[in-house]
Amino acid sequence: MNFIDIINKAEKGHKVNKEEIIHLLKAQGQDKTHLIEFANKIRKEDMGEEVILRGIVEFSNYCRKSCNYCGIRKQNKINRYRISIDEIMEAVNQINKHKIPTVVLQSGEDPWWDSEKIVKLIKMIKKETKLEVTLSIGERSKEEYKKFKEAGADKFLLKIEATNDLIFKEAHPDDTLKGRRQCSRWLKELGYINGSGCIIGLPKQTIEDIAGDIIFFKDMEMDMIGIGPFVPAKNTPYEKYPQGDVELTIKAIAITRIICRGAHLPATTALETLHPNGQVKALEAGANVIMLNFTPQIYGKQYKIYSNKANIGLEKAIESIKKAGRTVNI
Ligand code: SAH
Repeated sequence: MNFIDIINKAEKGHKVNKEEIIHLLKAQGQDKTHLIEFANKIRKEDMGEEVILRGIVEFSNYCRKSCNYCGIRKQNKINRYRISIDEIMEAVNQINKHKIPTVVLQSGEDPWWDSEKIVKLIKMIKKETKLEVTLSIGERSKEEYKKFKEAGADKFLLKIEATNDLIFKEAHPDDTLKGRRQCSRWLKELGYINGSGCIIGLPKQTIEDIAGDIIFFKDMEMDMIGIGPFVPAKNTPYEKYPQGDVELTIKAIAITRIICRGAHLPATTALETLHPNGQVKALEAGANVIMLNFTPQIYGKQYKIYSNKANIGLEKAIESIKKAGRTVNI
C-alpha cells in the first residue's frame, strides 16, 4: 500500500478503508509530515482560518460512575461540589461578554441534577443570552435527552471513548459499548449537533482499535470529534499506566480531519496537558476549535478528571492560535 495513493484517494472523496487508516496511523518521518500538511490543507478548505472558541463550565464533579481512568469516579475521595445556578449564570454571562458563541455545560453523571433542573438551566441561559448550549453530562434516557432538546439545548458531547468492546468494558465497569452507542444514536435522532471522541492510549488499545474509532465517527456522521491522549489520574485503577502518545494523537486528529470532512475538531486540553505546544500541534494538524475553561477557580481545581490538567484561559488560547498562524473572532 502506498502512502501517497491513500492520500490521493481521500482527496478525491473516495472511501478510505480500515487497512488504509491503519497505514496512515503508522506514518513516520516524511510520510507523517505529509499527512499533517494534507490535513491542514483540508482544514483550510473546509473550515477556513478561524479557530472557534467555546466556553466550558464544569458545573458538578459528583459522579455515580466508576470509569477506571477518571479522577472524579465515585470511589475517589475528593472535595465534591455543585455550582449554584446563580454562579453558573455568572460564568455564562462572562462567556457571553467575551463574545464566545457557545457554553459547554459539563459534569460527572450527577443524578442530583435531574432533568427538571437541567431544563430550568437551559431555559434560563436561552432566555438571558443567545448562546448555543452544549451538554456534556453523560448517559441519560432518551426521554431526558428529548426534554433537554425541547428546552433549547443545541449540541451534545458524549464521547464513545473506545469502540473496541473489551477496552470499553474494562475502562467502564458500569457501562456497555452497546448502551453508549445507543445514546449517541438517540442524540442524532433527536436532532442534536452530535459530538463524540475517543481516548488515545487506553490500556491494551492498538492502532487497529483507533482506526475502528475513526470509522465509527465517519459512519455516525459525527459533527464534533474530540480526540485526546490518555492522561493518568491519581488514585484511579489506571494511575500507573503510561500516558497516551502525543504524536499518535496528532496523527489520529489529522486522519479524522481527512476522513470526517467538515467536522469540528477541538485541540484538546489533554494534549496541552502532556505537551507544552500540544494545542498548537493539533491546530496545525486539522483541529479548528479550542475550549476555554470558565469554571470558577475555586471549583475548577476540584474538577480533576486527570492529573495536572492544563487550565486553558483566553490569553493562553490566543497565544496558541497566533503561534499556529490562525485567526480568532473575538
Ligand atoms: N460525564 C461526562 C463527561 C466526562 S468528562 C460523560 O460521561 O460524557 C469529559 C471527557 O474527559 C471524557 O469523555 C473523557 O474522554 C475525558 N477524560 C476523562 N478522564 C480522562 C483521562 N484520565 N485521560 C484522558 N481523558 C479523560
